[in-house]
Amino acid sequence: MKNYYICLLGIIFIISYSHAKVINKEFDICREILGEELIREIGSYESVKDEILKYVIEGDFKGKTYNELAKFVDKFGARPSGTEALENSIDYIIERTREEDIDNIVTEELEVPHWSRGKEKITMLQPRIKNISVLGLGRSISTPPEGITAEVVVIRNFDELENSKEEDIRGKIVIYDPVYTTYGETGIYRTQGASRAAAKGAIASLVRSITPFSIYSPHTGAQTYDENVTKIPIGAITLEDADLIRRITKRGERVVLKIEMISSYDTKISRNTIIDLKGREKPESLVIVSGHIDSWDVGQGAMDDGGGIFISWAAPVILKRLNLQPRRTVRSIFWTAEELGLVGAYAYEEKHRDENHNINFIMESDVGTFAPLGLTVAGNQESRCIIGEILKLFKSINASALIETNSPGPDIAVITNTGIPGAGLYNANEKYFWFHHTEGDTMNVEDAHELDLGSAFWTAVAYIIADISVDIPR
Ligand SMILES: [Zn+2]
Repeated sequence: MKNYYICLLGIIFIISYSHAKVINKEFDICREILGEELIREIGSYESVKDEILKYVIEGDFKGKTYNELAKFVDKFGARPSGTEALENSIDYIIERTREEDIDNIVTEELEVPHWSRGKEKITMLQPRIKNISVLGLGRSISTPPEGITAEVVVIRNFDELENSKEEDIRGKIVIYDPVYTTYGETGIYRTQGASRAAAKGAIASLVRSITPFSIYSPHTGAQTYDENVTKIPIGAITLEDADLIRRITKRGERVVLKIEMISSYDTKISRNTIIDLKGREKPESLVIVSGHIDSWDVGQGAMDDGGGIFISWAAPVILKRLNLQPRRTVRSIFWTAEELGLVGAYAYEEKHRDENHNINFIMESDVGTFAPLGLTVAGNQESRCIIGEILKLFKSINASALIETNSPGPDIAVITNTGIPGAGLYNANEKYFWFHHTEGDTMNVEDAHELDLGSAFWTAVAYIIADISVDIPR
C-alpha cells in the first residue's frame, strides 16, 4: 500500500505540474451552455466579491494572513510528518480557529510515516578535498557508519543509464545530472533514481536538485524504492556541485566521494484537520479549500505549504467575520503527511468514500501563494464554464485565468480522479521551485500583499461556488 502511495505521488506530480493550455477560448460556447439567467446570477456576486476583497486587501484583514502565517512558522518551524512539531502546530491552528468563534472542527487520526534525518556529510576525496552539501531524500536508507567511499559516474538521463555497461556502474556512486525542464519531468530522477541505479549495481546515488536555479542549496523530496531491488542511499546535491563534478569527469579525471548519511524510519499517528462553516440551505454539500500542514524538515515550510494552509484557514474565518453564510458548507482541510506520499489525502478519501459524492467542488493551494492569477480546473466543459464565468469577476485583481488540467493539486487529485470537479490556485509562482524543499523555504519568500490577494480570491471564489443556485456538474 505504501509503495502504491509513492508511485502515485510521482505520477500525480507529473500530471499536476505540467499544466495544459490557458483557455481564453470563448465564452460563446459557455454562453450557450450556461444560459443568460445563470450568467446574470453569477454576475450578481460582484458586490459580495467586492466586499470580501475590500475587507481583506484594505480593511481589517489586511496583512492578517501574513502575520498569522509568520506567527505559526516562527513558533513551530518545519513540521515533518510524524513529529511532535507537526502535532503541536495542528493543536495551535485549531485553538486559533476556536478564537475566531468557529467550533465545527474535527480531526481524524491516521498512521503516517516518520522519516528522520541524522548526520549527513559528503566529502569529495579526489581529485581534491571538498565538502559537498547534501540533503538525503525521504525514506533513504543510511550508509554504513563508516560511510560509502567510491568513484562517481555522472548520468544525464535514464536512457544513458540503461545503455551503460554494467561494469561502468557496478560498485559506483551514480550522480544523476538531468537538465531541468519541469518539476514533473525532471522529478523522476529524484523519485526513481535510487532504484534504477541499484538495478545496475550502483552502491549509492545522488541527484542534482530538482530546481532551475540555485545559490548552493540542496533540495530534498520524496523518493521510493522498487520492490525486489537492493535499497541504496540517495541524496540531493546542489546544481553547483553537480555541474562541478560533471565538468571534472568530462575531462577524464576520476571523482571519488565519501558519503555518510544516517536516518531512521518508523510510523506515528497524525491527524487531518477539518473545519466547517456550515451552509445555510445544503449543509451536506461541500466546497472544500485545502493545503497540507506537514512540511519537509528544512526551512520553515512557509511556502510549502504554510501559505496554502493559511489562505484556506482564512476562508471560513473571513466569511464568519463578514457574516456571510453560503448555501453550502465551506470546509477547510489541512492534509497531513503530504510530503511522504499524500498519506492524509488517501486516508480522507477512504474514510469518507460513501459521502464524497457530497463534495460539490474541491480546491487546493500547494504551488505557492504568490499573486493569484486564477485557477487550474479539473472538470467537464460545463463545470469549467461556470468556474470561468465566476473568474471573470476577478479581473480587477488580474485573477481571471482558467487553466485546464487533469490534476489540479497533489492531494486533491486523490478525489478529483474519482470524477469530482476541483481546482488549484494558479499564481505567479515562477520562483516557486527555487525555494521548494530547501532551507530557503522561510517567511522571506512570502509577501503580505500577495497573501492578502490570495486569501481574498480564495475566500470569494469558495463563497460564490458554495452559494450559487446550481451545483458544479460532473
Ligand atoms: Zn507541498
